[in-house]
Formats: sequence, structure tokens, C-alpha cells
Amino acid sequence: MDDQFDIRSPRLNESEQDFEKVLRPLSFADFRGQEKVVENLKIFVSAASMRNESMDHVLLHGPPGLGKTTLSNIIANELGVGFKSTSGPVLDKPGDLAGVLTALEPNDVLFIDEIHRLSPVVEEYLYSAMEDYRIDIMIDKGPSARSIQLDINPFTMIGATTRSGLLTAPLRARFGINCHLEYYQVEVLSGIVSRSARILDVPCSTEAAFEIARRSRGTPRVANALLRRIRDFAQVKGNGKIDLNITKYALLALNIDTHGLDEIDNRILTTIIDKFQGGPVGLTTIATALGEDPGTLEEVYEPFLIQEGFLKRTPRGREVTELAWRHLGRNYQGDFQRLF
Ligand code: ADP
Repeated sequence: MDDQFDIRSPRLNESEQDFEKVLRPLSFADFRGQEKVVENLKIFVSAASMRNESMDHVLLHGPPGLGKTTLSNIIANELGVGFKSTSGPVLDKPGDLAGVLTALEPNDVLFIDEIHRLSPVVEEYLYSAMEDYRIDIMIDKGPSARSIQLDINPFTMIGATTRSGLLTAPLRARFGINCHLEYYQVEVLSGIVSRSARILDVPCSTEAAFEIARRSRGTPRVANALLRRIRDFAQVKGNGKIDLNITKYALLALNIDTHGLDEIDNRILTTIIDKFQGGPVGLTTIATALGEDPGTLEEVYEPFLIQEGFLKRTPRGREVTELAWRHLGRNYQGDFQRLF
């Protein structure tokens, strides 16, 4: 059954996108967690509003589903300006970017998702836009082709990325504000689940919200998606209310990991145990064994496994912990046993 895969997939279908929109907080007051980031952003927003200027460009980085798009929308709302959204892979040619930039109203927010996937020519084109609010446009073709400079309205660019390591130094240097989003603590995530349940008008007990939060990989997107699935179970198999019993029943039926790990997390741990006796083993070797990109492994998957105590970094490479062995139902083989 592919339920687990669906829920955690970064690509959302239309109904899931609508669902996310409904649950998306629209102001800082509604946004929970990420306190440090939010505190700083509030100051920058207030200062820009007082001066009636565009805010400095912002880079938001962190794993998927933690609120980068949500925060960008909130910044635009709180600044009281327009919000235009695009993404790295969509901006294929400099002309695409020119079209977006010339359509911006003064001080608007331009959100570029997956900014690490911008093509190098488009990226270079972006530099003068970000720095001087000016772009070069080529007019005419052939021998009479020439470039003219065009002023654009001041704007705030917000770039979002799951892979900040792939950003070039010149692009990174053009962001005045740099924020890293962290995985959410269960208590905070549990508050997000309760809020979502209220918006969806489905009764959800505190214990159930906590259990959903605990199984959501520290990620609001996963928590909301689980809530949606459990609501279906509550309607069909229960009395419409989400309590701890129906939650546990649904989580079992959906095959959701008891610690909230996803399929790839479990594959990483199993691979290190089965192929490398639990480690230590180098990142590139693990990536090759999994057929994954080492950077994605390091920036997207590993941080959660380390935070939750399943994996550790040692000078000789990555090593799974006793918790991981037990979680996968294996007999723990410590250093001593592995010698024999
Ligand atoms: P990202 O852009 O980092 O992939 P999103 O901003 O799209 O993540 O967030 C995914 C979903 O999670 C959104 O629909 C939003 O409702 C929810 N969400 C994210 N962060 C929060 C938060 N701090 N409080 C409440 N809901 C949140």
C-alpha cells in the first residue's frame, strides 16, 4: 500500500494543494514555532513598513513542509504588499524572469521556490535585479541586437530551498536575511494539528493531536495530511470524532511508522545496518548504496535522523545508534559484538 508514500510526497495533487491553502496561517500571530526566525522577521517587516521601503531579500532554507511558502506569504501580508510566486525550474530563460520582474508593483514580494534549481544564466540575470533593481533586456536579433537597461520597481525577493548547499556564493551573498527552519517539537506540532482540526470543524482530542504530531516527522505538512486521512477513518469507522483510539487504528491501517520515520528514513537505517553492519560508513557510500544524491541525504534526510537519535556523525562516517537497531527490530550489535 502506497499511503505512506502519498502522504509524504513533496508533489501534491490538486485537492491536497487546496487543503494546504485552507490550513495555511496568514499572519505571524497564527504561525506557531520557529520562534527565533519569526522574531527576527517581525522586526525586519516592521522596520521596512516604517520606512515604507521594500524589505531586504530573504533566503529561507530547510527541509520540505516546514513552512517556507507559508512564511513568505505571511511576510507579504504583514508588509501589506502583493505576493508573486514562481520557482527555479519554471524560470527557464532570462526572458521568463524579465516578465515576472517587470510585472512587480513597488515593494512586492517575489517568492522563488527551489531557488537552487535556477539555471546559471537566469541566476546571473537576477543579480542586478536584486542589487540595483535594474535588468538588461536584449532587443532585436542578429546584427542590430542590442541590450538596454530597464529599471524595475524595488521588491523583496524570498528564495526558498531545501538544498542551501547547492546555492552559489554570489547568489547567497545577495540575500541580506538568511533563515534556517528547524523540525518542529511535538508540543508545537500538536498545537498545529489542533488548530487545523478546528478549521476543518472536526473534533479532535488533545491526546489524539499529540499522537498525530508524534508520528509526523516534525513536519506540519505531514501532520496536516495525516489529520486529513484520520478524519476519513473517524467518519467511516468511528463517530466522526478524532480520539486516541481511532487515531491509533488509522495510523496502523496507514502503516505509519511509530516514530514518524518515512520510507526513505527507514531505508537509510536498514541499509547502514544490513550492508555496513551499522557503520561507521561514509556518506557517499551510503548514497551510492541507496541510489540517492549525497547532498539530499545530508541536507534533507539526515538532520531529522540525527535529531531523533537514530544516527550519529563520527569522524569515521555515519553510524546508526542502538535506538535504530531496536526500532527496526534487530538485535543490537555494539562495537564489541561486531569484532567477532
Ligand atoms: P514548505 O514551503 O517549507 O515546503 P509550506 O509552507 O508549504 O512548507 O507548509 C506546508 C503546510 O504546513 C502548509 O499548508 C501549512 O498549512 C502548514 N504549516 C507549515 N508551517 C506551519 C506553522 N508554523 N503553523 C501552522 N501550519 C504550518
